[in-house]
Amino acid sequence: MTGQEIFDSLSEYIDEKCIHPDQPMSEYTSFRAGGKALCVVEVHSIEEMRRVLTFVRKKFLPYFVLGNGTNVLVKDEGYPGIAVMLKGDFTKIDVTGYDVTCGGGALLAQAGRMAADMWLTGMEWACGIPGTVGGAIRMNAGCFGSDMSSIVKRVRAITTSGEEITLLPHEMKFGYRHSLFCEKKYTVIEAVIELKKGDKNQIKELIEKYARERREKQPLDMPNAGSIFKNPRDGRHAAQLIDQTGLGGAYVGGAMVSEKHCGFIVNRGNASATDILRLMENVQREVFRETGARLEPELVVYGNSRRY
Ligand SMILES: Cc1cc2nc3c(=O)[nH]c(=O)nc-3n(C[C@H](O)[C@H](O)[C@H](O)COP(=O)(O)OP(=O)(O)OC[C@H]3O[C@@H](n4cnc5c(N)ncnc54)[C@H](O)[C@@H]3O)c2cc1C
Repeated sequence: MTGQEIFDSLSEYIDEKCIHPDQPMSEYTSFRAGGKALCVVEVHSIEEMRRVLTFVRKKFLPYFVLGNGTNVLVKDEGYPGIAVMLKGDFTKIDVTGYDVTCGGGALLAQAGRMAADMWLTGMEWACGIPGTVGGAIRMNAGCFGSDMSSIVKRVRAITTSGEEITLLPHEMKFGYRHSLFCEKKYTVIEAVIELKKGDKNQIKELIEKYARERREKQPLDMPNAGSIFKNPRDGRHAAQLIDQTGLGGAYVGGAMVSEKHCGFIVNRGNASATDILRLMENVQREVFRETGARLEPELVVYGNSRRY
């Protein structure tokens, strides 16, 4: 199918303003790199999500949910399917009592700041993570000693067949940068996060301290996707291993290992997805040779090498 054909078929059920054929994913991802998706579709309700799911199933099209694009890369050859974005009600955040209820497309940092305004502690670390709540749950995003598994109370999701389900923490297989959503293609549509009452000034100070640390240590002035590799299971740190291998500043085309933080790859200008992927492979090979550590990507890569 072409992007235009998807547009023509889906516009029967979804507002055409929300269907965008042939979209360069460089415009949707923090890496500012990558090929085109056949179509980006914004959904505003469960009903619209179900329509997209039915459509992709009947047309044998692949799809993925695109959050804020801060941990994904689409190969230069493109993605031969639909990237679905959760908009409208899916971006709402409500704070009631100790519970922060967020749509799957809501920004995690915004939820953290709203919680802080209500004197709720437990999400300070999350205020510097630029993804959506759905993306953060899928990745079990975390930093400064916490992660999503420590605050999520309940998640509502939609299965590939459009069934709505509720999941409790013990059902979500949370691990280091892992969750059930890496294994099953469920879409997180809502999460309830449970926090504790805290001291407003202490909460704000902690948020500021973490933000300062990020500014000092991370290359936030260049397009990137956060840490590219997971830390190995043996307790060593990916960034340290890359540094120790002498790869800070190493580059392929427009993609470069950050000298400020070796765990980051930055787009130093016009990097292609191929540049980024080749650099990742080179880093993995050299780090293995030098240290024996096998680095596994944290970045999620979509698309195949076949032109569509
Ligand atoms: C400057 C910077 C700093 C970062 N710091 C950190 C950090 O400290 N800790 C950390 O863990 N990460 C960090 N990241 C990485 C990234 O922000 C997180 O992984 C984030 O959780 C990804 O969310 P997203 O909405 O951008 O997801 P995307 O990148 O859009 O998608 C990531 C994956 O989640 C899936 N997904 C997205 N939404 C949903 C949904 N609703 N339901 C099911 N699956 C979904 C996608 O299909 C994809 O597989 C950083 C990134 C940047 C650019």
